[in-house]
Parts: sequence; structure tokens; C-alpha cells
Amino acid sequence: MEEALRMQAIPPYLFARIDEKVAMAKANGVDVISLGIGDPDLPTPDNIINRLVEAVHNSENHRYPSYVGMVEFREAVAQWYKRRANIDLDPRTEVVTLIGSKEGIANISYCYLNPGDYSLVPDPGYPVYSIGALLAGGISYAMPLKEENGFLPDLEAIPADIAQKAKLMFLNYPNNPTGAVADESFYLKAIDFAQKYNIIICHDGPYSEIAFNGYRPLSFLEIPGAKDVGIEFHSMSKTYNMTGWRIGWAAGNAKVIKALGRLKSNVDSGVFQAVQEAAIEGLLGNQDSLKEINKVYQERRDIVIEGLTGMGWKLERPKAAFYIWPKVPTGYTSASFCEYVLEKAGVVVTPGNGYGEYGEGYFRISLTVSTDRLKEAIKRMKDNLGQLEF
Ligand SMILES: *Cc1c(COP(=O)(O)O)cnc(C)c1O
Repeated sequence: MEEALRMQAIPPYLFARIDEKVAMAKANGVDVISLGIGDPDLPTPDNIINRLVEAVHNSENHRYPSYVGMVEFREAVAQWYKRRANIDLDPRTEVVTLIGSKEGIANISYCYLNPGDYSLVPDPGYPVYSIGALLAGGISYAMPLKEENGFLPDLEAIPADIAQKAKLMFLNYPNNPTGAVADESFYLKAIDFAQKYNIIICHDGPYSEIAFNGYRPLSFLEIPGAKDVGIEFHSMSKTYNMTGWRIGWAAGNAKVIKALGRLKSNVDSGVFQAVQEAAIEGLLGNQDSLKEINKVYQERRDIVIEGLTGMGWKLERPKAAFYIWPKVPTGYTSASFCEYVLEKAGVVVTPGNGYGEYGEGYFRISLTVSTDRLKEAIKRMKDNLGQLEF
């Protein structure tokens, strides 16, 4: 049973070794605290759950949904963008419902990449961007996100011959894993670049609502010219603690949205309508829970930043998303430091090289565990890691 070549192209799973060590530590009775997973620990807000319960009892919702999503959900997305950033979208042509944004991120490569075509992907980055390209027969080209550039890709460093063969460019701000944000001038440069080389920008923005101290991340779609060159992937997952519900969307350029919808209508059958109704409540209903959620993440961010600063790290407080991305101390690789932290403190942090080669030298802490456990994790690191050098 030989697997297809495209399966062999999937890179090895870089977290396998740490997963093994975690399993071993647990088997030995260690009370492991995982700061490794980017999955909100807080529950989905009650208004959304209540709406689901109602919608589940409506037998019309038990049938196949529309492929591209209920028009009411797509209208809710359009209204949400209007309220959020005064962005105008036609819900019928400029929004498509996704089974979580990961689904659309993987599928968009099938819509646009021929064998030999390039997809420009951030490194470090969410692995689906490059895997989507590989599965579709394309080639992913890493755009390094370097600290000295504020973790923004240097577009001028992309060779012209690569840019000419590129069909897609993925951008993701607020960024996973670095926590970086992008300003308008960067997006304008990216849009110019996309116009010059005829590239579709796929902005992945699931963290746009997770932000602190009054900071308001930009939506790609509010940048002039954005809709001419691209789309934004977005999701209920991070904003409303709904990762398990599997609902997201893509919005923007009508041709790209149409292509993605056409591909999807051939491979999936849409999102359960009761879930779409609940998501409408999330987008249009009371938003107080979001303020509470952000307060919790902000407090956790400060606990981690202050804790690590006390151990010798020099770190800025991220303005958005729920990750901290520190450098590993001198003398360690990403992998060896993460193993050291697990061994000495029983705490799981994620090695940066799991997000691409330019993630080497960093590790990621996710703020998605209870505040008490997070405090305990930081205390254990303080007490057990010894003197670290930077
Ligand atoms: C969580 C995440 C997503 C995907 O979320 P869905 O649950 O599939 O909507 C997409 N991109 C990034 C960068 C993420 O961290």
C-alpha cells in the first residue's frame, strides 16, 4: 500500500519528539502543564450555546446546508465587517462559509496552484500554508519573519523570478506564533507587490479580535486595494472560543471567493446550519464576553512577561493574539531548551522550529491555560531552570 508522492512530501511532524517526552513524563506521574496548545481554554459564550440548542430543534437544519453557507450567516459576516472597520462586502459574492478557516486555507492552493507554481509563505508560520501548496503540487517559498523586521516579511528580498512564478502569498497578523502585528504601510506594500506580480494575497486573521490595552488590529480588507488582490480568512474559533465547532469564512475578492466556493461544492457539503445560526448570534449578538476574554488573556500575558523578565529574558508585551515568542537562552536549540523545560519544570512549551526553519532559536508559550496553572508553570520555571544566559 504505497502512499502517493504527495503524502511523502509532507514534512515530518516536528512535535513528535516532545509529544513522546510528555507522554513519558505523564506516565512517570509528573503533573505536566502544557503551554503548548493554541486552543482557548475558556468556554464558548452562553448566548451562542443557547442559540445552537434552539437551532438544533429545527428539523430544517437537519438537512444538507447550502455549500457556500446560509445567506444569513454570510450577511452576518458582512455586517460584522461593517461594524468592525466600515468595510463593505456583498454577502452573496464576497463571502464564503468555511468548515473552520483551516479548511479554506488548505483548499485555496488547489484553486490556484499548478505544478511548479510558487506559494509565498511566512516562516515561522501556521504549517497549513505550505502543506496546502505541497498537496496541490505547488512549491512553498519561505518568507523569513525576522525579529529585526518586526516579524514582517521583507518583500524586497523575494527574488523576482520566484515572485513571477508565485500565485499566492499568505500573510497572518496578528501573527501566530510571534504575536507580531502589521500596520497599514506594510499592507500597502504587500498590495503593491501583489499587483506588480499578479499574486493573490491570502490574509489569515483569526486573532484580529484578541488584542490588549486598547490596540485594534487592522483587518486586511480595510486597506485600500485589498479586495482587488486578495481575501481574508477568518474564524469564530479564537474570537468566541469555538475551535471545536468548525466554522469560519473567507471574504474579499469575488473571483477568488467564487473559485473557493466552487472547489468546496465538489469536496464538502458545508457547515451544519444550527452551527451557522449560533455563529450569527456570536457575530451580531452581545460582545461583552469578548471584552472579558481579552481581559483574561491580557492578565496572563503580563504574568508570563513579568515572570520571564524576572528570569533574565528581554521581551516586549505583544499587542495581540495569545502567544509569547521568546528566544531560547544561550547554548540551547529550540528543541533542547523545550526538553530542558519539560524535564526540570514539567512544563511544555513549543519549539520554534516546528513552525519553520526561521523559528529555530525561539519557543512559543500559549496563554490558553487557566491563570492559576500559568502562574504555577512560571513559578516552576523560576525555581528549577537555574541561571540562564542570554
Ligand atoms: C487557529 C488558527 C487558524 C485556524 O482556525 P480554524 O479553527 O480552522 O478556523 C488559522 N490560522 C492560524 C494562524 C491559527 O492560529
